Amino acid sequence: MLDKFKEECAVFGIFNHPEAANMTYLGLYALQHRGQESAGIVASNGKELHLEVDMGLVADIFDAERLLRLPGHLAIGHTRYSTWGESQLKNAQPIAIDYARGSLALAHNGNLVNADHLRQELEAGGSIFRSTMDSEVIVHLIARSDRDRLADRVIDAIEQVRGAYSLAIMGPNELIGVRDPYGFRPLCLGKLRDAYILASETCALDLIEAEYLRDIEPGEVVIINEEGLTSHFPFPKVKLAQCIFEFVYFSRPDSFIFNRSVHEVRKALGHRLAKEAYVGVDIVVPVPDSGVPAALGYAEESGIPFEVGLIRNHYIGRTFIEPQQSIRHFGVKIKLNPIKRLLEGRRVVVIDDSIVRGTTSRKILKMIRQAGAKEVHMRISSPPTTHPCFYGIDTPTRRELIASSHSVEEIRKYITADSLEYLSPEGLLSTVYPNHNDYCTACFTGEYPVEFPWKDRSQVELFEASS
Ligand code: AMP
Repeated sequence: MLDKFKEECAVFGIFNHPEAANMTYLGLYALQHRGQESAGIVASNGKELHLEVDMGLVADIFDAERLLRLPGHLAIGHTRYSTWGESQLKNAQPIAIDYARGSLALAHNGNLVNADHLRQELEAGGSIFRSTMDSEVIVHLIARSDRDRLADRVIDAIEQVRGAYSLAIMGPNELIGVRDPYGFRPLCLGKLRDAYILASETCALDLIEAEYLRDIEPGEVVIINEEGLTSHFPFPKVKLAQCIFEFVYFSRPDSFIFNRSVHEVRKALGHRLAKEAYVGVDIVVPVPDSGVPAALGYAEESGIPFEVGLIRNHYIGRTFIEPQQSIRHFGVKIKLNPIKRLLEGRRVVVIDDSIVRGTTSRKILKMIRQAGAKEVHMRISSPPTTHPCFYGIDTPTRRELIASSHSVEEIRKYITADSLEYLSPEGLLSTVYPNHNDYCTACFTGEYPVEFPWKDRSQVELFEASS
């Protein structure tokens, strides 16, 4: 078994729009960066739910004909990247079911830490699971609740699960949004004329020209139906643990999450990085696209010119999603190309947001040196990624995370940099100001805010023992 879940997702929901499925399609298109393996939409015409789900990218899965099979005023959607369980169609979302009290559908972003335990209990009681997804546990718990209203059954279910969850749930005439009390993953609320919208990130609202109203609060359940929107806080308050990696890498820079502009935060991280780790060079070059905002900040702060020294081919998928090492190695080359005239004879600092395995940085730095750069330094706008995420970001296993077992100097040698420096944890936290205690930093610190039952006899150990 791996020492982590590998999962990244987006959710979207819309109530009271005549073209709910079309809007959901557009919303998912804007959220594609959060998961590229499968996508799905469930729509309701007030009586029954229709589901269309498939493996692949949103734009490849849905065409006009397929969207016509999704009539109604209410819809939810999901995009997913996961290799936890198998990457099969049965593990794609939303999950739609018919049960004794009607129909419901659910889309989940995040990971539950007690899903295995709950699943065993449910299976012992006769429940039959159709997927290996942790999210299906929530669906079973909702179906088994003895409460009458869907919203109450949802609250009943959520009281039993632990971990990270931003959810869009629907019945035939109702949309429910839930964010876990820690607030791990983002979820926002928008409005488009008479329609309410739930989305993982505000960039989805921008595309459909909806107004951003606010974030769904950590621990909040919003119920949206013909009577309007009501908000509930049924769970005890806990210390917040919003995912800091959403700011570092995962969210789109044009989004506004946890009450801050992602681009602004990333740029400020670059400013801070230049203060902490200045290097006297001729040009600042970002790794596109992930390093661009931080490189702009670094250049502004240091006064060193910003140059687009690497050109990205946008017409290929993100290499990171390719499961095989052989493809990943090839991928960097087909994805990025240096501008030789810019780099020849120059001293360069390359800026990226994070180093995960180290393979991308190594390839890029070699490429820049081959293009004629005289010195190649690297600066990273976050601290070393030392621990895997159990709450919904795809980081590889602990063993594959280069910073889990190598010093900065060893990583410098591996990636062939003349110098390498990371942003300090203090630098990161004070930049995501104002409430820097409100964040989960487990990937940088190993301090996991929600314990997982297997931590002590951890899969980390099992994995390391077997390797
Ligand atoms: P690596 O070669 O594994 O070190 O990959 C580092 C690159 O992956 C950096 O450019 C990061 O921006 C990017 N990255 C970091 N985290 C993730 C993630 N969870 N999914 C995809 N790419 C990522």
